[in-house]
Amino acid sequence: MSRAPAHDILFEPVAIGPVVARNRFYQAPHCNGMGHRHPNACAEMRRVKAEGGWAVVCTEEVEIHPSTDVSPHIEGRIWDDADLPALRLITEKIHLHDSLAGIELAHNGPHALNLYSRTPSRNVSDFPVFGGHAPVQARRMDKEDIRELRRWHRDAAKRAVQAEFDLIHVYAGHALSIVSFFLSRRHNHRVDEYGGSTENRARLLRELVEETVETAHPRTAVAVRIAVDELVGAEGTHKEEVEEIIESMAELPDLWDLALAEWANDSASARFREEGFQEPYIRDIKRLTSKPVVGVGRYTSPDKMARLVRDGVLDLIGGARPSIADPFLPRKIEEGRYEDIRECIGCNICVTGDFLAAPIRCTQNPAMGEEWRRGWHPEHIRKRESDKSVLIVGAGPAGLEAARALAQREYEIVLAEAADEFGGRVAREARLPGLSSYVRVRDHRKLQLDQMGNASCYLKSRLTCEDILEYQIPRVVIATGCRWRRDGVSACNPLGVPVGEGAREPLTPDDVMSIVAGEPHAAGALPENARVLVWDDDHYYMASVIAEWLAGQGHSVCYATPASEVSAWTRNTMEQHFIQKRLLDLGVEVRSNEILRGISEGEAELACGFTGKRKRVCADAVVLVGARVPNDELFVGLQERRDEWSERGVEAVDLIGDAFAPATVAHAVYEGRRYAEETDMDEGEIRAGLFRREMVGLHP
Ligand code: ADP
Ligand code: SF4
Repeated sequence: MSRAPAHDILFEPVAIGPVVARNRFYQAPHCNGMGHRHPNACAEMRRVKAEGGWAVVCTEEVEIHPSTDVSPHIEGRIWDDADLPALRLITEKIHLHDSLAGIELAHNGPHALNLYSRTPSRNVSDFPVFGGHAPVQARRMDKEDIRELRRWHRDAAKRAVQAEFDLIHVYAGHALSIVSFFLSRRHNHRVDEYGGSTENRARLLRELVEETVETAHPRTAVAVRIAVDELVGAEGTHKEEVEEIIESMAELPDLWDLALAEWANDSASARFREEGFQEPYIRDIKRLTSKPVVGVGRYTSPDKMARLVRDGVLDLIGGARPSIADPFLPRKIEEGRYEDIRECIGCNICVTGDFLAAPIRCTQNPAMGEEWRRGWHPEHIRKRESDKSVLIVGAGPAGLEAARALAQREYEIVLAEAADEFGGRVAREARLPGLSSYVRVRDHRKLQLDQMGNASCYLKSRLTCEDILEYQIPRVVIATGCRWRRDGVSACNPLGVPVGEGAREPLTPDDVMSIVAGEPHAAGALPENARVLVWDDDHYYMASVIAEWLAGQGHSVCYATPASEVSAWTRNTMEQHFIQKRLLDLGVEVRSNEILRGISEGEAELACGFTGKRKRVCADAVVLVGARVPNDELFVGLQERRDEWSERGVEAVDLIGDAFAPATVAHAVYEGRRYAEETDMDEGEIRAGLFRREMVGLHP
C-alpha cells in the first residue's frame, strides 16, 4: 500500500527559526520516569523516536536548578556542567537520525518540593506548595529572586546550546511551571511590575523568552510552551487572556507550543476525552503569529493530522502518547503502512511511570522503556533460533502479543481461543463505558498476525490437557487469563465475605460483562431499578465503570471502598478526579473508608475502616470487585502429566499473563513479549540478560 496523497502535507519540512524540521511530526516533551536517573535508557528511548521518523524529539521537563527539584519524580536535570554528558548523549542519539533535539527547560516553583536539594520552594506569591498536602510554603520571590531565576534560566539555556540541542522550550504550560503561576490571576497577588495587569503578569515570560533567544540564536531555536486554558473559567488562565499574551509577543519565539492546563486535562485519558478534544482551544491561535504552531491531541489518525495542517490550525503535529505507543508512527504513515500503526489506547499507563517514579511502560508498546535495558525494539525482534513451533492457548493481550512477536520471529504459531472472538479481557472490557479504545490492543495484534503467514488462529477452541498433548507441539504457552472472585476475597478481606441465607449470590465483573455482552451468565437477571452495591477493593477502573454502567441502566448504585476515594490507584493515571466526578454526577452514592463485612437478603453490612462500627445498607445485589483467580488449571494439569510430555512431543509448558499473576493489560502484553523474546534463550542468558542496570557512580 502506498501513502495517500492527502497525507503528503505531513512530510513537508517546517522552518523553526534557525533550524528546519524535516517533517511535521513533533514528539512533544513527555516524562518517562527515567530522566536523570536512567540516562542511558532515556537517551535510547529518544533515539528510537527519531528512528521512527519524529522530526523533532523533545526531552521531558528538565529542571534548571536545585530549587526546582521535583523528586521523587524523575525528570531531566541541567543544574550544572555535570549534567552535560547525559544531555549530550540524548542529542547525539537524536541526531543520528537527522531529527532535531528539543529541551524543555523548567522551573516548577511551588510544584517542586525540593526533597533532595532541601532548598526552599519558590512562587510568585506566598502560598503552600503543591503535592501531598505538605505542611510547607513556597517563598514569594522578591526582585532579586526573580533576577536569580532569570540567571539560572539563561545558564541552563547556555548549557542546552553546549549540549547541542536544536530547540529550547521556555515552559509556561500545564499550570506546573513557575511562569504559569506568574501568569495566573488566581496565584499572582503581586502589586509590583510582575503583578496586576496581563502585561505585568506576562513580564517574566517575556524576559525569559528574550533572554533565551539571545542565548540560543543563531544556532538554536526557541519555543514557548504555553497553557492556553486551565478549564476553570474566568478566574483561571483562559483562552482570551492567553491570546492577548501570545499576540503581544507573537514574533519573539520561533515556535508556539500550545497545551491545556492542568496536565491531567491536556493528557486526559480516552475514557474522558476523545482524540483532538483540544482543537477548539487552539484553533485560532495561528492567526496571531507568523511563527509555526504545534499542539497535541492524542492524534493517531493521519486524516485528522493532515486536516489540522490544511485547515491552518497547526503546522506541526505534536504527539507524546501516540509516540510512546508507536515510535514509528511517522515512518508508517510516510510509507503508507497504515495497517501497521499501533494506536495509543489512551489508558495513561505511561503516566504511572512519572507518578510512581519508575521507568515508563506502555500498554500498546511493551518495548517502551526497555530499548536500552533489555535491548527491545518496538518494530524489530531477532529471528528464530530453532524450528520448534509454539502452541499458545488463550488469545487475550498476553497470548496475542506472544503470538505476534513469535510469528514476527518466524516461528510457526498455533493460537487457540475458547471464545468466539479474539482479545480476551480487552474485547470484553471494551464494551464497558469509556473503554472502547481498549480493543485496539487486540486489533493491532490480530491484524499483524493476519498479515504473517505463519500463525494459525482458531476461535471456539477450548483446549483440554489431552487436546494439548495430542497436538504434539513442542512448546506450549498457557495464557488463559483469570476470573474475578465471587467469594469476596480481596486485600482487606483475606477470608472473603460471608453471604447469608436467602441472599442473592454476589455478582462479579465477569457476570456484569456477560450481561453487557448479552451472553448467558450465572448471575441471573437484575430486577429493574435495583439497588446495587458495587464493592471496590481493586482500586483501578473496573468498579467505577461497572458503577457507571449500572447507573446508566437506571439502577440505584452505591459504591463502597476501603480507600478514601473512588478508584484510588487511578491517581497514577490522572483519572481519579474525573472518575469521582462522573460517579457523583450520575447520582452514585459514594461511601469511602468502609469495608464490606457481609451480605444478607436485601442488605449489605459495611464497617467503618477506622472504628470498625458496622452499618447496614439496602442492596438487592452486590458486585464484588476484589481479587482475581488465575485460570491456571491447564498449566497445573499439564505439570501433573509431565511424564507423558516426551512421548507426546512436548518439551516445555509456560504460563504467562493474568494466568500467571493477574495484573493490568499492560503487564499481560509485556509478559507476552517477554516470552517471545526469551524463546530459545538459554536459562543462563535469560538470567544474565535480566536487564541492564544503570549504576550510580561512586565518588572519591
Ligand atoms: P491475559 O490478560 O493474560 O491475556 P485474558 O483473560 O485477556 O488474559 O485472555 C485469556 C483468554 O484465554 C480468554 O480469551 C479465554 O477465553 C481464553 N481461554 C481460557 N481458557 C482457555 C482454554 N482452555 N482454551 C483456549 N482458550 C482459553
Ligand atoms: Fe497510550 Fe496507554 Fe501507551 Fe500511554 S500507556 S501511550 S495512553 S497506550
